[in-house]
Amino acid sequence: MLNIGCHLSVSKGYTHMGKEALEIGGNTFQFFTRNPRGGRAKDIDKNDIVSFLDFVKKNQFVTILAHAPYTLNACSADERTKTFAWEVMADDLMRMEYTPNNYYNFHPGSHVGQGLEAGIDLIADLLNKTLKSEQTTIVLLETMAGKGSEVGSTFEELRRILDKVELKSKMGVCLDTCHVYDAGYDIVNNLDGVLSEFDKTIGLDRLYAIHLNDSKNPFGSHKDRHEKIGQGFIGLETIVNIINHPKLRHLPFFLETPNDINGYAEEISLLQGAYKLV
Ligand code: FE
Ligand code: FE
Ligand code: ZN
Repeated sequence: MLNIGCHLSVSKGYTHMGKEALEIGGNTFQFFTRNPRGGRAKDIDKNDIVSFLDFVKKNQFVTILAHAPYTLNACSADERTKTFAWEVMADDLMRMEYTPNNYYNFHPGSHVGQGLEAGIDLIADLLNKTLKSEQTTIVLLETMAGKGSEVGSTFEELRRILDKVELKSKMGVCLDTCHVYDAGYDIVNNLDGVLSEFDKTIGLDRLYAIHLNDSKNPFGSHKDRHEKIGQGFIGLETIVNIINHPKLRHLPFFLETPNDINGYAEEISLLQGAYKLV
């Protein structure tokens, strides 16, 4: 079975997200740990956690993916923004341990004029201040489209961040198909080449999850606008190649396409049907 899910709202709790995911044919899901624009997270509901852990076991779910808020910018020039990034990540990672052995994804950040080198240092600093040797969560850097001063739109930049993190075993990468295509990695005409470049630069053993999105914009546009599966510049054929690729097919795939729950159900059923049994 294809390991797939979509982005869901955390507002009704973990068990609710699990049931929603199952209903639409998924065995995982992604959610924002709190309002994507920032703010406080909901208190952990211990009863919900107990029933969720039971639910995922019974229904053979795979790792779920928590997404940090967009406002978390580890490499801002502003002290308050940096402090906020540290507080949010530390709090999120503490909460993640209620649902152990899952993934936490974040956007490396935008260096806003301080330069790439300074940006990379600040991101690594945040991780070195926040990661704990006893945590079970793997923290994932997301590949970015490269809009504005975003750090992490090349595999080299991600590699340079990873190199500076002390607890390397707690770190990985989440590859967003829309973002890498917009960043100038030609997954449509040269998927094997892109994956071998990823392998040489970062190592495919560091790739833990895929954000599966089509793109509203053409190759190399540095735009980051997601499109429904098969309706953008990446196209269905490439998406099907990605989910079936021998180096990727075991990973969890997360849809972040512009859809309501019925649209997600349709995409999941389309992709389950296109997943080849080998
Ligand atoms: Fe993201
Ligand atoms: Fe993404
Ligand atoms: Zn995006």
